[in-house]
Amino acid sequence: MMKLIHADIVYSEDRAHLAVHPDSYIAVEKGKVKGIWPVIPEEYRNVSVTDHSGGVLIPAFSDLHVHAPQYLNRGLEMDLLLEDWLSKCTFPLEAKYADPGFAKLVYDAFVDDMLANGTMHACVYGTIHSEATSYLIERMDKAGIKGFVGKINMDRSAPEDLLEDAEESVRETEALLEKYSGNKNTKPILTPRFAPTCTGKLLYDLGNLGKKYGVGMQTHLVESLWEAEQARVLFPECSCDTEIYEKAGLMDNGPVIGGHFIFPSEDDIRIMQKYDSYAVQCPDATVSVIAGIMQTGALLDRGMKIGLGSDISAGHHIGVYTQAARAVQLSKLKEFYEPEGNRKISFPEAFWMATKQSGDIFGATGSLEPGSVFDALVIDGLSDAARDLSPAQIVERFCYIGTKENIKARYINGKQI
Ligand SMILES: [Zn+2]
Repeated sequence: MMKLIHADIVYSEDRAHLAVHPDSYIAVEKGKVKGIWPVIPEEYRNVSVTDHSGGVLIPAFSDLHVHAPQYLNRGLEMDLLLEDWLSKCTFPLEAKYADPGFAKLVYDAFVDDMLANGTMHACVYGTIHSEATSYLIERMDKAGIKGFVGKINMDRSAPEDLLEDAEESVRETEALLEKYSGNKNTKPILTPRFAPTCTGKLLYDLGNLGKKYGVGMQTHLVESLWEAEQARVLFPECSCDTEIYEKAGLMDNGPVIGGHFIFPSEDDIRIMQKYDSYAVQCPDATVSVIAGIMQTGALLDRGMKIGLGSDISAGHHIGVYTQAARAVQLSKLKEFYEPEGNRKISFPEAFWMATKQSGDIFGATGSLEPGSVFDALVIDGLSDAARDLSPAQIVERFCYIGTKENIKARYINGKQI
């Protein structure tokens, strides 16, 4: 049952520090980390060793905001801004998922590419279509990906072929909750797209479903100034975007994951922290489509939970490791242009957001400390002939210039894939 793996080992010790175990042995038993040692302990002398000498073993990444149906649009129409991008590029593609055969073709490629790029935990948006979303849940669950997948709910302000009526939307959502809530790895989550596309009736009915099934919610929160303003116009009884979901009872029942969170008011921040919710920074997406930068450093200093998202296809790269690098870059721009109250973040902080911090949503993932689920990657091929790099430097370089070709081995639930 037990195996030993030899490599340089790096994971987040805490928000500010990496734990580094050079040239060490990690013991994995029943899919979980048992311990890490510089030499093989006496009692494990006879255990077989998988040798990844020269490679760096790191935890697999978590993508907290990604749209599987938009996978086909990655790297396209990146010169549009949010409203045009939705109407001209994104909604027309999402309408095509009424065809389950089309969905299967895309979702197979999406899941394979996510795993190839080292993402083994994810919060994923589907479309309004139940059959296509069912396939995505089953496909991810079978692959062992710890995750949440949502059938999107929209009953206003979207093209005709993507609109549902509230009753139908709730009925279809409940059917998915009944069928898949007991899944081992990938489960359904409530996914009202964002406040401007949902009526109050739909949100309150989804809140009741959340209570009945003990299930959380993912949505887009204060993503743009337009969205924040629309939320106030459409829900005048609420002081901010986040309060709409609180009042509907959508924040009481499980993890709440709010994508983007770029323009929060003090009330948005207070409510998110009250429910221990996660905000998601999606660096590429906010540069390409949304045009705003999260106050990452300041929010982290206030104890806010923040993970990272590829946000395919507002973001163009499915590898969350690239977003860790981009989060550092954007925090520098934020500090430069708005020095008041903002600060740059360190690379260990960005890596922690992409692994340990966000991995907590899915159980004991995102780390290699004892007791963690062994979802891990071996990275290699990033050194220079003229100079040795430390294991921590290799991890940083991987996030900046690495590709999936640098991932030499992948383990999920303790098994190499
Ligand atoms: Zn999104």
